[in-house]
Parts: sequence; structure tokens; C-alpha cells
Amino acid sequence: MKVVVLGAGVVGVTSAWYLHKAGHEVVVLDQNSEPALGASFGNAGGVCPSFAGPWAAPGMPLKALKWMFQRSAPLKIRPKIDPAQWRWLLQFVSNCQTEKFNHNKQTMQRIAHYSLACLQSLRAETGIQYANQSAGVLQLFQSEEEFDYGAHCAHLLDEEGIPNRLVDSAEASKIEPALKNSRVPLMGGLHLPKDETGDCHMFCRELTALLQAQGVIFHYNTEIQKLVAEDGQIDCVDTSAGSFDADAYVVALGAKVAGLLRPLGLSLPVYPVKGYSITGTIQDSDNAPRSSVMDEHSKIMFTRLGDRLRVAGVAEIAGFDDTLRPSAFENVLHRTEALFPGAIKPAECKRWSGFRPMTPDGPPRLGKTRYNNLFLNAGHGSNGWTQACGTSKVVADIISGMEPEIDTSGLCQA
Ligand SMILES: Cc1cc2nc3c(=O)[nH]c(=O)nc-3n(C[C@H](O)[C@H](O)[C@H](O)COP(=O)(O)OP(=O)(O)OC[C@H]3O[C@@H](n4cnc5c(N)ncnc54)[C@H](O)[C@@H]3O)c2cc1C
Repeated sequence: MKVVVLGAGVVGVTSAWYLHKAGHEVVVLDQNSEPALGASFGNAGGVCPSFAGPWAAPGMPLKALKWMFQRSAPLKIRPKIDPAQWRWLLQFVSNCQTEKFNHNKQTMQRIAHYSLACLQSLRAETGIQYANQSAGVLQLFQSEEEFDYGAHCAHLLDEEGIPNRLVDSAEASKIEPALKNSRVPLMGGLHLPKDETGDCHMFCRELTALLQAQGVIFHYNTEIQKLVAEDGQIDCVDTSAGSFDADAYVVALGAKVAGLLRPLGLSLPVYPVKGYSITGTIQDSDNAPRSSVMDEHSKIMFTRLGDRLRVAGVAEIAGFDDTLRPSAFENVLHRTEALFPGAIKPAECKRWSGFRPMTPDGPPRLGKTRYNNLFLNAGHGSNGWTQACGTSKVVADIISGMEPEIDTSGLCQA
């Protein structure tokens, strides 16, 4: 079968990998000049199934309201005259109930853990390296409320048999010795020893090179303008470089997915949530995290990628506004200096922002649509690097007429 994959972010590139492995002829289209220049470029680098979970959590609406009036808040809602934003926010709030949170978290955990296993097999098969480490992640808690949240997450992880350890601040400093110099008083942390880290952009470049060597075609600088449908199926994709047709189409367009599917009458609740990151060369190895630290208080993640430190966070719900707010970078740098003083030189850091393709409930949307040759691999939110291999394997299996290896309830609509 000939399959066109729309988008060459981590979700599109891994879709191409599993489709190619299943024996299909694969073509990938992207508007950029190389893979993973969208959200997959500068993310926090965490492949963290153990804390994959929805942002729509109990207590979040109140917190979000409070944060609207704080300069250095981890999440900012900028209300716009945009029905898509309001619809998404209402759906988000309705998912903040405990029962829905638990259900969504378990769905995300299921696909994320499967995804890590897929990534590990892919790595063993290809030997690709991407500044990856399998040294776990430490989630840090500053307040009692955060620690209680950590205990709740630990309980859910225990139920699923996922290794985790709730630790006090002294123990946290043993896991990440650089925390001994932290200027922030800490309550403790949740250690997730099986989680991994790595440079998502580097991974995509390596995998793309391998795919190209094996005959998969990537058309760059190709802007997808329209999916043309006839008689309940997609006829072709119109792009700035002409039309492309295939037997099947996989939509992996990141945050842009909803806009391109809307003219087909498909309403996908994926909204752009902007985040920021900085990347700097590590100045003093002893002052930088050994692996990766997720600071629950600021929702900022610190990840060692070889000799670099990536620090990422901040969420702005304000549509596709790509203004780089200096205050957002200041927050990230300020927290870096507080937790890991002297780890990097702020003035020499590379600055980046990208849009997370967020669903209001958390889980991505996969598989069949009402067009019989159009398939989704979209809405990975803040967990796209963590979930990409698993969701792409599921979608490739569905397209190949095979039963996915995991339960896909809560992920596939049709
Ligand atoms: C600050 C930040 C930190 C994050 N940290 C983590 C983390 O630690 N771990 C984790 O798992 N996830 C993380 N994420 C989320 C993760 O980066 C995303 O979920 C993931 O990159 C989404 O991949 P994607 O392929 O769906 O989208 P993208 O990477 O955005 O790719 C979509 C592709 O579609 C192309 N495209 C879009 N429209 C068109 C068009 N009209 N024509 C042609 N091409 C088009 C784009 O050019 C792009 O290449 C983070 C995100 C951000 C912003």
C-alpha cells in the first residue's frame, strides 16, 4: 500500500518508520526544510511514561485562575475571541474531576509505557543514538500540597505495578547530587527509575536518515494546503509542491492538525499550547542534573543531553501567537539558577518556543476517521516524545489490518 504521512515531527517520522517496517511504500510531507523543526525541536527531552498524565487535574481550574494574575505563573490563559479556545477550555475544565483524571491518566500511562518499550526495541534494532540516557527522572516537590499530589501519583503507579519511590529531600539529593546546592527548600520527590531522556530532534534526524537510506521519500518545503475528499475517502493532498495521492493518509501535523481537518467536517479538539525552552552548554558538571528533574512547583523540566542542559516549561493558552515573551525565558532562567546554580551561562543559551498539540482531556487521538483511508496520529500534547513510538506502531498496525498490541480504548474513536 502507498501511504502519505502528513508532517515530519517525531510523530510523523515514527509513523513512517513503523509503516515502512510493515512493508508499505511511504512518502512524508512537511513544510520545513528538515524533520522535527516544530514542537519536536526543543522539547524538554523527557521520555517519561511514569508521569505521563493529563493537565486537566482536580484543582487545576482554581490554580489556573490564580496564575492569571501572577507574572511568573507556569500556565497562562490569554482569553481570545476564538470559539475554538473557549470550547477547548470548557472541555478542559469538565475533565478536571477526579474520576476523569484517573481514567485519562491510566489511558496515557498505557500508551506511554508501550511507547517506551517500542522505542527501546527501535533503538536496539537501529543502534541510533540521540544523547539518550536510561537513568530515570526525579519529580521534585516544594510544598506539602505538591508532595500529596506525588503520593497520589505514586499510588496510581503502584496499582499499575510501575516502579517508583517517594523520597524526602535528603534522599532526592542522593539521586540528583547537584540538588545539594539548590537554593530552593524542597519537601522531597518521586523517583521514576525506568524513565528515559534524549534529544528528540536528534532522534528524528537519525531515524529520517535511516529511512531515506531505505527508500522512504521525504518532501520538504512542501506546505499542505488541503485534503481533497470524494465519496467518503481522501482523493489527494494539495500542497505548494503539487498534489500527492496514496491509498492511505496519516495526519501527524502537530498543533496545526485541527485547522487542516476542519474543512473535511472533522472536529478535533487539539489546541496549541505554547512552551519555551533554553539549551546551554553545561559549565560545571557537578552543578547540573545527572539525568532529568521535573520541578512540579514551576512545571519546568531540566534534562541533561550530553554536555548540554535543556530547560523547558511554561504553558500559554493563547492560540498561535508566536511572540517570544522575555519574561517567560526569565522565569525559566531564574528557576535554573535557583535549583542548579552555575550549571549553565544564561547569556549563552539558545532560546526556543514551540506549540504543544494539546487535547483537553490528555490522551492523543489515533486511528480511523469517518474517511476510510484517513488516519489520525495527533494530539500528543506535552507527551509527544514519550508517546510517539507507541502511537505510531498502533496506527501502523491499524492501517496494516492488524490488531494493535495494546488496548486502544480512550485512544481510538472508531
Ligand atoms: C516546551 C515543551 C516541552 C516539551 N517537553 C516534552 C517532554 O519532555 N517529553 C515529551 O514527551 N513531550 C514533550 N513536549 C511535547 C512534544 O514536543 C510534542 O508532543 C511533540 O513534539 C509533538 O510531535 P508532532 O510530530 O505531533 O508535532 P510537531 O513536532 O509540531 O510536528 C508537526 C509537523 O507538521 C508540520 N506541519 C504542520 N502544518 C503543516 C502544513 N500545513 N504543511 C506541511 N507541514 C505541516 C510541521 O512543520 C511539523 O514538522 C514538549 C513540548 C514543548 C513545547
